[in-house]
Amino acid sequence: MALTTFATTTFAAARSRAHGPTAALWHAVEVHRLPAEVDGACELTLCGTLARVALDEPWPSSSREVCGTCTTLAGVTPA
Ligand SMILES: [Zn+2]
Repeated sequence: MALTTFATTTFAAARSRAHGPTAALWHAVEVHRLPAEVDGACELTLCGTLARVALDEPWPSSSREVCGTCTTLAGVTPA
């Protein structure tokens, strides 16, 4: 298993609120600060939505309720 540097862009998972019939989705947030500073904070996601960062959820999320735009913008190819 290779070690990666921390110089690359890090993404955190963030949960948006549900909008009517649309379920709450997991989005990706670019993390430029210490993870402890963004945990639980509302941040602007890659797709331009405000969502609450949850560091206990990994990105890419294993959940099915993931924002497709954020997945694409984060460069993660779904399996
Ligand atoms: Zn998104």
